[in-house]
Amino acid sequence: MPMAQDKAGGGDIFVSGIYADIIVDISHEKVDRPFQYKIPQALRDIICPGMRVHVPFGRGNQDKVGYVVDITNETEYPVDKIKEITSVDEKGISVEGRQIRIAYWLKRQYGSTMITALKTVLPVKQKLKQLEKKKIVRCIEAQALQAVIEQCRQKHQTARVRALEALLMEEELPYELVRQKLNVAPAALQALEKQGYLRIERESYYRNPVRQMSREEERPRLSGIQTQIIEDVVSDYRAGNPGTYLIHGVTGSGKTEVYLGIIEQMIAMGKQAIVLIPEIALTYQTLLRFYKRFGDRVSVMNSTLSMGEKYDQIERAKAGEIDVIIGPRSALFTPFANLGVIVIDEEHESSYKSESSPKYHARETAIQIASLYGASVVLGSATPSLEAYYRARLGEYKLYEMLDRPGQSLLPRVWTVDLREELKQGNRSVFGRKLKELMEGRLRSKEQIILFLNRRGYAGFVSCRACGHVMKCPHCDVSLSEHRNGYMVCHYCGYEEPKKRNCPSCGSKYLMGFKAGTEQIEEAIHREFPKARVLRMDADTTRTKESYEKILSAFADEKADILLGTQMIVKGHDFPNVTLVGVLAADLSLNQNDYRAGERTFQLLTQAAGRAGRGEKPGEVVIQTYQPEHYSIVHAAKQDYQGFYEEEIAYRDLLQYPPVAHMLAVLIVSQIQEQGKILSEKMTDLVNKEMKEWDGLRVIGPTDAAISKLNDLYRHIFYVRHEDYQVLVEAKDRLETFCKKQELKNQTVQFDFDPMSTY
Ligand code: ADP
Ligand code: ZN
Ligand code: ZN
Repeated sequence: MPMAQDKAGGGDIFVSGIYADIIVDISHEKVDRPFQYKIPQALRDIICPGMRVHVPFGRGNQDKVGYVVDITNETEYPVDKIKEITSVDEKGISVEGRQIRIAYWLKRQYGSTMITALKTVLPVKQKLKQLEKKKIVRCIEAQALQAVIEQCRQKHQTARVRALEALLMEEELPYELVRQKLNVAPAALQALEKQGYLRIERESYYRNPVRQMSREEERPRLSGIQTQIIEDVVSDYRAGNPGTYLIHGVTGSGKTEVYLGIIEQMIAMGKQAIVLIPEIALTYQTLLRFYKRFGDRVSVMNSTLSMGEKYDQIERAKAGEIDVIIGPRSALFTPFANLGVIVIDEEHESSYKSESSPKYHARETAIQIASLYGASVVLGSATPSLEAYYRARLGEYKLYEMLDRPGQSLLPRVWTVDLREELKQGNRSVFGRKLKELMEGRLRSKEQIILFLNRRGYAGFVSCRACGHVMKCPHCDVSLSEHRNGYMVCHYCGYEEPKKRNCPSCGSKYLMGFKAGTEQIEEAIHREFPKARVLRMDADTTRTKESYEKILSAFADEKADILLGTQMIVKGHDFPNVTLVGVLAADLSLNQNDYRAGERTFQLLTQAAGRAGRGEKPGEVVIQTYQPEHYSIVHAAKQDYQGFYEEEIAYRDLLQYPPVAHMLAVLIVSQIQEQGKILSEKMTDLVNKEMKEWDGLRVIGPTDAAISKLNDLYRHIFYVRHEDYQVLVEAKDRLETFCKKQELKNQTVQFDFDPMSTY
């Protein structure tokens, strides 16, 4: 059985084949056009993706250098017409070559076309330069300007008058405003610039935000553990033995200080650093610490940058103008020449997994990239992902625990409230008695409250209000989802059963789907606390980034007593006057219909609890739940990560879920429902038949996806499970080959390894 030798963590890529796809001109506009060449016999075992080769090109067969991007055994050209590769360029692996190898790895490891993978890794140059921020700056005194305006008026140059009058009021104006709102043509502005009345300046928002900033920085004396981590990472690196390190440290325990220390030493050795931070946490405060330490050799990548600006950042990195890039997932592909370390903060965040093909995970990809460069990887989190902690326990990552905060701000006091008891006592309100009592106290003492309704991924689970029993799939141990037709369905395997009238556990008639949104809760607050000022934050009230920030700053300015919201309020913001956090129904996230529900709940509750008492005053947290005995809730209430991990990993092990085993989701999207059904059945048959030799391989499904129809397209899903990731890669490869032969029309197939949610 020929199989690629690359493992999930790293290693080399050996592939054999007769034909190579080659990009002859690597300038990024050309990325979408590889040319096929034949690999001469003598080079068959040598050529691999990412290599520079010489090829005859064009009509005159000019000698050109190109990059191998893919190797196959099939060609669409007549075999006798296809040209041969001349030779291998021996200059060692270039930056581009390395990027191509990464793309090739992404394609194999996660399943996508080579072009999509290349576009993920090499940003395609686009002619979007005009999107750069420009501004217009006045160059002459107000009096002189008055005179110029008068001259223009006499010449009936009304557009110029509009522009200059605006400049009279403001010395600097955004270019777009003058172009669009004032409707002044570029030619008019250029003429005024030539005459010396104004200047058009290019302003790049993130380029050198430090110029104006003082670089004075107070450095804390590092603690013993901080010093030890920095020394370990750096000395392993110097010894030619770079590794992966996981720092488990509560928020505020000093992880960022460790990242800064490591990066500083890397820079001293002439190396560069990539720092991944979830977009939502890319705040000015965070960035400031990097700017203060490293000055204008830091750059930032984020989603507000235009394609042109992103391209500029990449060019700067290649040219060696910067040492550190900070950004979300995609910053991983910054093509540094001498990368020394990749830092991933808040490593557990689900935004590190790409939602579009190739559906790569930044953690695994970082480790792969690091292995190509001989770089180190440093992961940090207050609630590490099961994946990372599992690898650390296996000894693949070095683990450090930082469980104290340098300042002694106290951990909050946590109350767990059993909502079943509330019902028994006749309280049907969304506020249990404890929460209500504490809220009244805070409103009296003018301290602030955060109420958290964890609705994410909410998919109509069914539970008993009297005893807390949740209806689960007997095969997959995940919650069943309620469907309109009166059935309850499992979205992994398709198991279904009619909805019962009475609870199978206690016989009560309170078996129902949970339905409460933030709006209903806001009404309930107004009913029960008529004087409280409430801000609501959910998908409806935060359509734009501005409205999101407006709500947060209004709350920070204490313009409201209560902030009510979904999971978006629990991340990253410090409100010193918040001393009470209420989680209204912790079960909502516990009963999502996928195996990560327990992990996500633990993370959310731990983060939510961390919102209370960030200032001087001690905080309290109330967790309301129908399942107070559930281990995610018990351990979150005690802020006990290890206790949670032990129970969660035992569950994953028992049911062979990731990270103990692996899972490949295959999503079939079709215009015609019947076609989707047929294709999904053919594909599962193929895996079952062809892959019999792999012991322990299991196919689950096919079935309708949880979202069975989206944008008029039908979605079928099945899962393949095995403990060896590479067996799933092999399954994916065979399915890809099969689909190619089918010449699918109006149908697409997507692969997702170790999916983060159900489809
Ligand atoms: P984390 O990244 O784990 O949230 P930070 O590195 O941001 O933690 O540290 C939290 C706060 O504690 C910061 O204000 C930081 O300056 C401060 N701090 C970090 N390390 C120390 C230390 N050794 N002594 C004193 N203060 C420290
Ligand atoms: Zn019951
Ligand atoms: Zn099931």
